This record gives sequence, C-alpha cells and structure tokens, in this order.
Amino acid sequence: MYKIPFYDIGQSYQELMPELDAAVSRVLSKGWYILGAEVAAFEAEFAAYVGTRHCIGVSNGLDALFLVLKAWGIGEGDEVIVPSNTYIATWLAVSYSGATPVPVEPDALTFNLDPALLEASITPKTKAIIPVHLYGMPADMSIITVLAAKYGLKVLEDAAQAHGAEYDGRKCGSLGDAAAFSFYPGKNLGAFGDGGAITTDDDALADKIRILANYGSKVKYQNLYKGYNCRLDELQAAILRVKLPHLEAHNAKRHRIAGVYNGIHNKSIWLPYCQLAASESESGEMVYTMPFSGALAKPCRHQYVIRSEHRTRLEAALNKAGIGTMIHYPIPPHQQEAYREMSSLSLPLAVEIADTCLSLPMNPYLSMEEAADIAGILEHYQRV
Ligand SMILES: *Cc1c(COP(=O)(O)O)cnc(C)c1O
Repeated sequence: MYKIPFYDIGQSYQELMPELDAAVSRVLSKGWYILGAEVAAFEAEFAAYVGTRHCIGVSNGLDALFLVLKAWGIGEGDEVIVPSNTYIATWLAVSYSGATPVPVEPDALTFNLDPALLEASITPKTKAIIPVHLYGMPADMSIITVLAAKYGLKVLEDAAQAHGAEYDGRKCGSLGDAAAFSFYPGKNLGAFGDGGAITTDDDALADKIRILANYGSKVKYQNLYKGYNCRLDELQAAILRVKLPHLEAHNAKRHRIAGVYNGIHNKSIWLPYCQLAASESESGEMVYTMPFSGALAKPCRHQYVIRSEHRTRLEAALNKAGIGTMIHYPIPPHQQEAYREMSSLSLPLAVEIADTCLSLPMNPYLSMEEAADIAGILEHYQRV
C-alpha cells in the first residue's frame, strides 16, 4: 500500500455515503431496475450539463462509441480516423462496427490528434473522425470540425476522459456530431460499475441509438433492427445523479492539484519539450516534461501525465517514497496482439509516449499537502 495511493476509488463512496445509500435503496425498494425514471432523469440532467439536446444512457463507453458508428451506418469497407495513442476502446469500437481504424499521430504538446496530419489520412473511404480528449485535454476541435465539413465526415468525440472539460467556452461532448462518455468508476464522473452515455443535438440519431441499444425495439416486442442490449441500468443512473452535482467541485479540485504540479517545472527544462528528443538530458538528470493546455482548451485533468526518458527510475523513486503511479498507456494499440495486422505501421510518437509517460496521482480526494509532497519529490529528482 502506498502512503499516497494513485486513486482509492472507495473514497467517492465515503464522501457521499448518505446520499448514495438513499439513492440505492430508493431504486431497490421501487422494484423497477431497467429503463425507468432514474435513467430518464439522469439523461435530462447530463444533457443539460453538457449542453446538448439529447443524452442516451448506455452500458459503457465502448458501446457508446460503437452505437454511434452503427447508427451512422458505418461498417465494412469504411475507414474511421482515430488517434494512434488512445486507450484501445476507441479502436475497438471501430473494429466492432466492421470499419477499419486509421491511426493519426498526436501533437506532441497536447497528446491529441495532430490536425496538421489529419488531412493526409483522409481517403474516399473515410467516413468519420474520432478525436479523443485524452487525459481530459480537449482536442483541437475547431480545425477538426472544419476539415470534417470540407470532406463530409462525421465527428464523434471520445469524451470518456472529458466530463466537464471545455473548449472555446463549450463543454466537450457538445462539439462534434455526437459524443461518447464512459462512467467507468475511475473517470471524472464514475458509476459504481459500468455505464456510459451518448450526447448529441441530432434528433434522428438520438432516436436510432435509443432503439439500437434496446434490441432494435421502440415499441415492446416490435423489432425494427437487429439491435443490441446496451442499456444503462437504474441503479447506476441513480448513483450518477448523486455524483453529477459534485462534478464541477471535483474538477475544480483537480485544477488546484494540477496548479501545484504545474508549479514544479523549471522553465528552461520545460520549454524545449516539443522536440521529444530534447528531454534527453546530457548530465543524466531525470528531466521530465509537463502537460500543455492549448489556448482554447480548459482541461478537466482526468490524468496528469508527465514524460521522462528515465521513466523507470522516476517511477521507482516515486513508488519508493510511497506514491502510487500509473502508466496510461504502456502499449499503443497498433503494437497490441489484438491488432497484429497493424504491427508494421510506423507510429513513432505513439510509441515514444507509451515508453515515456507517467501518470501522477490526480483525483478529488488528494489533499493539497499530498500534492505538494509529490511536487517536492519531483523537484528533488529533477536536480539529482
Ligand atoms: C474509458 C475509455 C473508454 C471506454 O469506456 P468503458 O466505459 O470502459 O467502456 C473509451 N475511450 C477512452 C479514451 C477511455 O478512456
């Protein structure tokens, strides 16, 4: 056990225990567990929060992504652009649909889709782009949506890490044609089990997704499509309704912690980090680079990810000091066994990020003193 764990998710129950207990017993005693008042209320509340006309609660983030692609009729023979350095679910959703994920390398500053590389990856088979707001940092949506319009492509935001993040004054999840959220317990808004949602302003799309997620049925026992069972359940919806009103405060706490971590860096070390090779220090110092926010982006700090050429040593030093760390993610999708057909692709930035990234503790239950302790240890190792 670490003195400062990476994230003890049980703390989110401790924080809101009476309200959560009341919500759970309300659902259990009501005797209505699937597609009821809790899901409908949560959908309305989350749509209002994100700023979209519709929200459809679904089983998880992967299904949310997949259902949108399916509802758009994307499938075999189609291509969908995805980041080379995302969590694998983004790619799996495309593969599920029968289409081919086409990876594009990230911008080295933001870790998000590099708009400059996007256009060259568009082919006559391209149907959609899935920008991921990775680590809670909004992708560069203005350029992505302009390019999508130019080529007649759909934009599906993977907002699984972006609850409450904003871009140009608007919430992530309201910036593309549709968005997919995950409520996996460790996300900024997490259920106590699996959950997900789709947000969109498109009435017809919302209607179709609702039907697809419920066996292809709108009227009970009448099936329009060979649909799926991808529903959010009442219990998770009731839990999410308790947690949603606390999301802004939780994100504000994450910002304060990020502020402490941001304060660590020595500018002379920090500045050249756009050239990845520049983080190699001649003296063998444990130099690292910090995350960057674009001008229009207000991140929700899902993860605070630094990079170091000496990741293994830095990680060992932090762990030895009693601080939990994680790696998001150690193997890029194209190097996974599951995507062996992609193994010959050259995606050096995705590989470089996987080899050098390290996630520091980042959650609303971390105290400012703990954040300062972590920053102090990093400062120390910067000089050793
Ligand atoms: C968590 C996550 C998903 C998948 O969500 P699940 O609810 O776990 O299925 C998809 N994309 C990204 C970027 C994620 O972080």
